[in-house]
Amino acid sequence: MIEQELPLAAAARTGRGIFDQELLDRCISCGFCLPACPTYKLTGDEASSPRGRITLMRALNDGSLPADDPTLREQSSFCLGCRACEPVCPAGVQYGQLLEQWRVQQWQGPHRPPLARLLTLAAGRRWALRLMGLVRGAAHRRPRRAVAGPAIPRQAAASQVAAPDVPSPAAPAASSQVTPAGAGQAVPAGAEPAGSGPDQLMLGCFERGLFPKVSRAAAGLAPDLAVPTDQGCCGALHAHNGDLAGGERLARELGEALPGRIVTTSGGCAAHLAGVLGRDRVVELSQYLTGTSFGEVRVDGRRARVALQDSCHLRNGLGVYREPRELLRQVADYVELPDAGSCCGAAGTYALLRPKDSRKVLDPKLDQIEAAGIDYLIVVNPGCQRQLIGGLHRRRSKVRVLHIAELLAMADQG
Ligand code: SF4
Ligand code: SF4
Repeated sequence: MIEQELPLAAAARTGRGIFDQELLDRCISCGFCLPACPTYKLTGDEASSPRGRITLMRALNDGSLPADDPTLREQSSFCLGCRACEPVCPAGVQYGQLLEQWRVQQWQGPHRPPLARLLTLAAGRRWALRLMGLVRGAAHRRPRRAVAGPAIPRQAAASQVAAPDVPSPAAPAASSQVTPAGAGQAVPAGAEPAGSGPDQLMLGCFERGLFPKVSRAAAGLAPDLAVPTDQGCCGALHAHNGDLAGGERLARELGEALPGRIVTTSGGCAAHLAGVLGRDRVVELSQYLTGTSFGEVRVDGRRARVALQDSCHLRNGLGVYREPRELLRQVADYVELPDAGSCCGAAGTYALLRPKDSRKVLDPKLDQIEAAGIDYLIVVNPGCQRQLIGGLHRRRSKVRVLHIAELLAMADQG
């Protein structure tokens, strides 16, 4: 079936018509993006840099490279899609959109990795999501008592969420400066303004199966949120894996199912939804909770030491990085990791499709985490959570990985 092309996918194209030509033309080949790119850091090869990949895209688009050229296939796959090249770009190149368009062409038909095909098929099926919801149990409101009348203050609600076990402290710490923020995201043409209904908590597709405590904690922290359980996938997985039209369709369907502002615990979903529905429709949880008072998290009689791993798309796509740090400084002693803003190698399906490359990106980060003397590593995206839990587990590290919703839910437990 031919999908109807949606606005982001239907940009003006020339040459072979693979890319939005205006996006492609913006690159001035200055190379400012090279030091920010994790795959360029790994190889030192221009073809593995943002500038090199844009040169490949241009060659593909104007026909000077055959569509089945192996370098095209390799580089469109090797790229993490982390968008670290965007905030440092003086010309405003929206590389993430170019990569999505590239993968539509490179990963069409039999060329789409089978695992990516399987995951996008599962995430696009409501029955599969319902099954995951059954596996994890209902997210909404289980941790706190039902109340009549005015909404419970967020701080009070937080105290009713069960706290995970507290591990022993790790060794003394290292610290560093926060890196500058990423660029904001433009509101797409035709985006609908937020409706007047209650704010809605998005449960995520794989998050609800993998990390059920996250949405449960978020619902407890923000009792004024509506939590509809019959939600589909936001389509980020599809858009990043060669099905851009499907990704946009699913985002719009979710926007209709969750009218009003959508509050999400996933940085990757937030950026994709904001790109399709408009920035004012989407709020990441730490943004939503900004200004809320919390107590503190203690470990062995002292304030806990915590660090943050940014979500690439939240930081580089939406420019959100201060908010989670401010919340963490409120509840614990915050340690800034030297590369907190760089990719952990999870990158959606990347860790599954290219596990060796994913580990090469992850390993230096694990070294930094272990050297920082922290009790908890905090994440704002389920893919990062899975990746870092796995990496630290393999090293038998004492550092525990939690989503920010889980840590904040512990903050008033005393
Ligand atoms: S993507 Fe931006 S920073 Fe990188 S070479 Fe092109 S214009 Fe320069
Ligand atoms: S998205 Fe990330 S890995 Fe890909 S070119 Fe940009 S910085 Fe490099």
